[in-house]
Amino acid sequence: MISLTIDIQVLILPFLTSTSLISLSQTSRHFRQLIDSQRKDFVNRLLELECTPECGGEVTINDHAKIVIPLGTVSYACTNCLKIIPHTHFDNHALLRLRLRKPPPESRVSQQLCGWMSGDAKAQGLKRQIDLRNDTLSNWMCQNSSSGIPASKLLELYKIGSARNRRICNECKFITGFWSRNAGIRSQSWRGKHRNSNIGTAAVPVVKGRQRRCHDSTERYFPGLFPIAADAEYPWRWKIYREENCDWWTLWSIRCPGCAIWQERAGFRKGGGYGVKATPADPDGWRQPGWDGPHFEEWRCNRCFAKSLGKEQLGRELLAFWKRLVDWELSMFNQLLRVGWYAVDAIEDATKKKYSWAQIVKRDSVSSQLLRKVPTAEEVAKMEFEQRRHYYRILKRWLNNLDDPAAVLGDVMDRHWFRQWSNEYEILEKRIEDLETYTNILEADSGKLVSFALDRYSSLV
Ligand SMILES: [Zn+2]
Ligand SMILES: [Zn+2]
Ligand SMILES: [Zn+2]
Repeated sequence: MISLTIDIQVLILPFLTSTSLISLSQTSRHFRQLIDSQRKDFVNRLLELECTPECGGEVTINDHAKIVIPLGTVSYACTNCLKIIPHTHFDNHALLRLRLRKPPPESRVSQQLCGWMSGDAKAQGLKRQIDLRNDTLSNWMCQNSSSGIPASKLLELYKIGSARNRRICNECKFITGFWSRNAGIRSQSWRGKHRNSNIGTAAVPVVKGRQRRCHDSTERYFPGLFPIAADAEYPWRWKIYREENCDWWTLWSIRCPGCAIWQERAGFRKGGGYGVKATPADPDGWRQPGWDGPHFEEWRCNRCFAKSLGKEQLGRELLAFWKRLVDWELSMFNQLLRVGWYAVDAIEDATKKKYSWAQIVKRDSVSSQLLRKVPTAEEVAKMEFEQRRHYYRILKRWLNNLDDPAAVLGDVMDRHWFRQWSNEYEILEKRIEDLETYTNILEADSGKLVSFALDRYSSLV
């Protein structure tokens, strides 16, 4: 290229990508002076780079309308600090709005070249005006009219990624005052039309992020502390309209007022163990007396907490946090263990007296024939773990011997969660035992929680 005359060089430069333009400008003094890279060229290069495979794919929304955490590294460009950084540094709008998304190769933006221009500012301004006039939607539609792509898709390809030069990371939004202009506790109300994602304050932004599928709140707030089992090993949860054994939990990025490092909400030992829908601006407990707001300015991340109050105190707090979550899960699971028994007495009516609980027990084995009185299902519901399991197994043997339990039992199947309960009873028991075992392990050594919080969980998603 250097051997070409400068007139030719000037003709070729606009047809380079921004990446090659900047690379070329770094090859010699001649090109550095000729090209004279501007900030916009560096921004455009970053926007080209974020679309390369090294930066991974995109943050996406799944069929459940949840913003999923992508697998592997997925990075995006911040056009303020001029860095390519992991997606966790951005709020959802910065990655998901059409004009801020990574453009696919067939989009208008991906086909743009560096647009380098020679000449003085005035000449460049004129050239830019002409380009803008040509770069219209109707021209784009005309150019692609024979492509076979439907018009709605073409419109999307015209827009996608076109405002990425305005995408900035959470920290840059803090520095430039974006969050303080868009702060507002409880702006997330389900009926609200608020588009901003900061429910914190001007000084301590609390920004909505991706959503993670977790089987319970201990997994949500202590991810990976204990191994996560196969999906089938988790019992169903209490849900009215859905049969699922997990919830989608929203992750929150909070700028710790102690160390100014953005961290996930789980790094602050707070969280509504009572519900998936609770935001960091809600109280930790259900109807907590005397609660008068989240006071984000007093929140401290685990590391700041350990620095000022010591690791032992951190261990105590984390253990208390863990136990609060486990207590809530256990009380729910224990209720679920009991719930199906309340449908069992209805078997007699549903089968027109063909079967009854007392008969089912007596016919099960010789030893139960000797029972003077068969406990009612409601009495069984209130029994201790082991004793109750004995009766559950009798019921389960009977169910397993029926050709078609649903036909025999009719609407009993749908009462008191009988269907899930009768299938997953032992999974529930196992999960309760696991959670109790984990608590015992942590009570014996809360140092496990401290090292988890300080080492493994220090770079939070
Ligand atoms: Zn930035
Ligand atoms: Zn901190
Ligand atoms: Zn306050």
